[in-house]
Amino acid sequence: MSQQVRVRFAPSPTGPLHIGGVRTALYNYLLARKLGGKMLLRIEDTDQNRFVQGAEEYILSSLQWLGIEIDEGVGVGGPHAPYRQSERSAIYQQYAQQLLNEGKAYYAFDTSEELDAMRQNFESQGSAFQYNALTRTRLKNSLTLSAEEVQAKLAAGEPYVIRLKVPAKEEIRFKDLIRDWVHVHSSTIDDKVLMKSDGLPTYHLANVVDDHLMEITHVIRGEEWLPSAPLHVLLYRAFGWEATMPQFAHLPLLLKPEGNGKLSKRDAELGGFPVFPLAWNAPDGTKAIGFREEGYLKETLINFLAFLGWNPGTEQEMFSMEALVTAFSLEKINKSGAKFDIQKAKWYNEQYLRLRSDESLAAEFLTAYESDKALKIVRLFKERVTFPQQITTEAQALFVAPESYDAAVVAAKWNDDAKKGIAAFKEALVSLDDFSADAIKHTLADTLTSLGIKMGKVMQALRLAVTGVGAGPDLMLMMEIIGKEGVIARLDKALQTL
Ligand code: GLU
Repeated sequence: MSQQVRVRFAPSPTGPLHIGGVRTALYNYLLARKLGGKMLLRIEDTDQNRFVQGAEEYILSSLQWLGIEIDEGVGVGGPHAPYRQSERSAIYQQYAQQLLNEGKAYYAFDTSEELDAMRQNFESQGSAFQYNALTRTRLKNSLTLSAEEVQAKLAAGEPYVIRLKVPAKEEIRFKDLIRDWVHVHSSTIDDKVLMKSDGLPTYHLANVVDDHLMEITHVIRGEEWLPSAPLHVLLYRAFGWEATMPQFAHLPLLLKPEGNGKLSKRDAELGGFPVFPLAWNAPDGTKAIGFREEGYLKETLINFLAFLGWNPGTEQEMFSMEALVTAFSLEKINKSGAKFDIQKAKWYNEQYLRLRSDESLAAEFLTAYESDKALKIVRLFKERVTFPQQITTEAQALFVAPESYDAAVVAAKWNDDAKKGIAAFKEALVSLDDFSADAIKHTLADTLTSLGIKMGKVMQALRLAVTGVGAGPDLMLMMEIIGKEGVIARLDKALQTL
């Protein structure tokens, strides 16, 4: 039976979704689409201390903005609902009970003071304390207490956790699709808590139970979860689910722009670049900038993120979501960390801005102008900016006459020929009815020809008179957008003051 591929993105709503999380979501989505599988969204919110209001909505909006579609899960529903772990407590309790019944897990009643004392004791002897096969026999748990004592404690409502009884000597071996074989010995793993004293599961238990029940075939997640994977394998084994255990793929870290060490929020602050897809306003008042608000197009972010850890093995750099789906494969994901180079993101943004139609940019970013004018403005600046909002800024500047003139251009280009030519050109404009870039250009050419002055001698001076500087986009189109009155006024002013 060929199995349908089922992947999941399983974020915890502990704050805004970090860009590394977005990449994880993207790779899961690409694999699902490539193999005709299903993409699930599960919210892992069993850690009440770390829950942040608004984080789930933020995750959903981010995925939606980027076009990472969810087939099953929070916000969509599906056959394995609920997909929010906080609504699945009864399920985890049932599975923890199963492990207790089978002697694969046990109750532990040690208080945090007792465990702290243990830790200090170990440290004073130069070793580190682990709750494991060696120490569990000396601690307060259902392996050392009598059944009656345990029952009495439970009946009295004494706080407890449920721990996995990690086997003392077992070889754990699994094949990570990116890192190849991983070997770990069970003696290096402590008896992890599966159920906390608040009655909620830990990440490990909930994650494994859900991946099993939701029939996940591939667990694709960040490298920071690699150390948890051997424990997860032990859990699958304890439940008797090892035969249908998902395949693991741990994605490479995102590294600092210089390439040394993990990308941090501080790197982003120093570099002035975002590490979150959308701007974030936390309930406690903290704020963070987002790619969307900074003017990065969604096409940019998708393409940029896809290349942070993956490459197609060809020279091609521009990939739409569709093209990524076709080209993507887990085999081409790198083992080594990916340098977060914001310059590359800017480069992508310039490319995608140019690929956008004038109409769509005008409609999205230049709503302050009537559509005809908005289109012309887009045409004027699209090729010259990195972010769409720079078009708006440039547009605003276009409608303000220059206050001063670039002295170097004045010295080099503002000569008698230029003045004579510009004065005559101004007169000719007065009677020009069709104030289009083409007509303006013809008028200029005719005027200069009749005076015997070469176009090249006047162009920069004319630009100086109209804009105050010596370089910029298509001057004829600029004049058309500024309009006849505006242009004549600017030429007058230049002729009088320079
Ligand atoms: N809830 C975990 C996270 O926040 C999920 C890790 C996993 O994919 O297993 O990243």
